[in-house]
Parts: sequence; C-alpha cells; structure tokens
Amino acid sequence: MTIRVAINGYGTIGKRVADAVLKQKDMTLAGVTKTKPNYEARLIAARGVKVYATSPEKLASFEGSAVKASGTLEDLLKESDIVVDCTPGKVGASYKPLYQSLGIKAIFQGGEKHDMAGFSFNAYCNYREALGLDMLRVVSCNTTGLCRSINALDKAFGVKKVRAVLVRRGADPAEVSKGPINSIVPDPATIPSHHGPDVQRVLPKIDITTSALAVPTTLMHVHVLNVEINREATEQDVMGAFGRYPRIRIFSAAEGIASTAEIIEFTRDIGRPRYDLWELAVWKESIKSFGRELYLTQAVHQESIVVPENIDAIRAMARITEDPDESIKATDESLGIGR
Ligand code: NAD
Repeated sequence: MTIRVAINGYGTIGKRVADAVLKQKDMTLAGVTKTKPNYEARLIAARGVKVYATSPEKLASFEGSAVKASGTLEDLLKESDIVVDCTPGKVGASYKPLYQSLGIKAIFQGGEKHDMAGFSFNAYCNYREALGLDMLRVVSCNTTGLCRSINALDKAFGVKKVRAVLVRRGADPAEVSKGPINSIVPDPATIPSHHGPDVQRVLPKIDITTSALAVPTTLMHVHVLNVEINREATEQDVMGAFGRYPRIRIFSAAEGIASTAEIIEFTRDIGRPRYDLWELAVWKESIKSFGRELYLTQAVHQESIVVPENIDAIRAMARITEDPDESIKATDESLGIGR
C-alpha cells in the first residue's frame, strides 16, 4: 500500500516532512505547494518533485520563472490521499473547508488549535487512537518534547505532577525579521503557558503547569522539568526508562556536549541533514533524583522534532499499520534515528 502525500506550505517544517516522506517505502510525495517560485521551489523541483501554486492567483507568478508549476493546490489534492498542512500557524484552519470538501485526510501542525483539528497526536502516546482519523494535529515542537519525556517517566514510574520552565528560541535561523535581539521575554507573562494544557491534550491525566521565556537564540529550546513520581527512582532508573525510547537521546556535558551549540555541532559532525535532531535531547548530568522527585533538563530542535511524528501520523490515519512500534521503527530506520 502506497500513500500519496501532499505538502501544503513548503517552509521550515514542510521541507523536512517532504524529505522524510521521500525516504518512506510506503509513501510517495505527490507534490508540494509554494506561494512563489523562489529558490526553495527551484531546488525541490530540480529533485523531480512536482511544485504547485497555492492558489490560482499565485499561479501567475510562476509564469516565465525557472520553476514550472504543475497546477494549483486543488489539483495537487485531487492526486493525493493525505495532505500535511505545514502553512504558518492559524493559516491551516482556513484550508480545513477545502480539505473537507475534497474528502482528503489532513494533518495540521502545532500552530493550529486542538479544537479545529479535533485530535492532538504524538506517536509514543496515542498512535492507536489516531487510526483511521480524517484529521489531526501534530503537537508543537515544545509539546512533542514534553510528551516524549513525560510519557517515558509515566510508563516507568507513574507521574504525579510536572512543573516545567521552557526557555524558547526567539526565532528559527532563517527568520531574519523576528526577535528578541537583546532581551529575555516572559512569553507569555502569564502562567500557565499554553504548553502545559497542550500536553494534556495528548496525556490527559498528567498534572502539569508550564511557564515560558523567549531568548535571543535560534538553535534550540531548553526545558527544565521538576517531576513528582509515584514511586522512588534513581538516576539510573530514569536513564533506563529513557533508554527504551530511541526518540530520546542522552547527551553528556562531561563528554563536551554541555550546551545547545554543542548539540548542534554534534548533529553536524554526524552528518545530519540541515543539522536536524529528530530526537529529544536530555542531559545525563541534569537527571537528579530526590526519591519521588526528579529534575532534568532537556533540549528540543524545534525545526525537526515533529518530523517523525508527521510520518507516523500518516501511517496511523491511513491505517498502513495498526502497530505503533512498527510505524515508529520504520520511520526511525528511514531517517537514521538512534544512529
Ligand atoms: P514557515 O513560515 O517556515 O513555513 C510556512 C510555509 O507556508 C512558507 O513556505 C510560506 O510561504 C507558506 N505559506 C504561507 N501562506 C500560505 C498559504 N496561504 N498557503 C500555503 N502556503 C503558505 O512556518 P513553519 O515554521 O514551517 O511552521 C509551520 C507550522 O508548523 C506552524 O503551525 C508552526 O506553528 C508549526 N511548527 C513550527 C515549528 C518551528 O519551530 N518552526 C516547530 C513545530 C511546529
């Protein structure tokens, strides 16, 4: 069974999901949409992928350009089984009526509201509940990171309570017009930040409160977690619990990876495309146990952590496999997660 996948919105997330789809044996990339024939459109077209204009109005800008448009978004959707909407936050919702009218399954991203999509997805946490769904959203990068570690701790020890502080990157590397440049911004100033309630969309039983700050960096987010668990666990127990999940990767400050910059240098050294780290990073030395109270510090590569989740969401919605482990394994092997 081969699923034809469309990507609407070929930016930071869209280009990475497109590359991941191209690596799957059970999926084909039907095409991607672009608002204009810029260098990103030219590069993906040169790889033999069909490029479509996002609307009939935008089609005109492709005429006479280096990029041939194969039609519009609607044409692409008619040749696809599922669309991964990677348009900017809140824009995805405006496409929902079109996707529904064409009867195509749709995956939205974390910038969209849970209620709009109706289901919030994380492969480790709720793959089976997503089987056959017509719509869902893959939760944001921060929420994906929180879900991965909290789910691992909950399965191993039972989680009673989570309190977390999120230090968020101010902008992605290519976002030249965003900040902050010289400030630490409580973002939001109110508590909780939206991340805690968002985790509860995926893990409804978890008592979690989050606060967040934005800082002038583009590489990664960092979270400091304080977790109360139901039974005592040592630091080794926590390492063992995380070790069961290839999408959680342990880094060691003692080995010289003591910052987000050094994590990114590591991903470049192992030849990851675009220096992507699909895994959640956890610093070994930050794991501290006080019996039933744990601390840990984790880092999230915001541009790529949701990519494997999108691939598993496609498999669940298309019912390619009903077994989460089978899907996760196929995705991880195709990308090189754990290597
Ligand atoms: P982006 O701005 O990098 O990419 C969006 C793409 O959509 C751009 O190519 C843009 O030209 C295109 N676009 C704009 N308007 C469009 C329209 N009307 N129709 C079709 N395409 C349109 O955004 P992104 O960072 O990739 O974010 C996409 C989604 O993923 C958002 O919901 C965001 O919240 C979520 N997300 C982003 C990150 C991140 O750190 N960048 C992490 C996780 C989730």
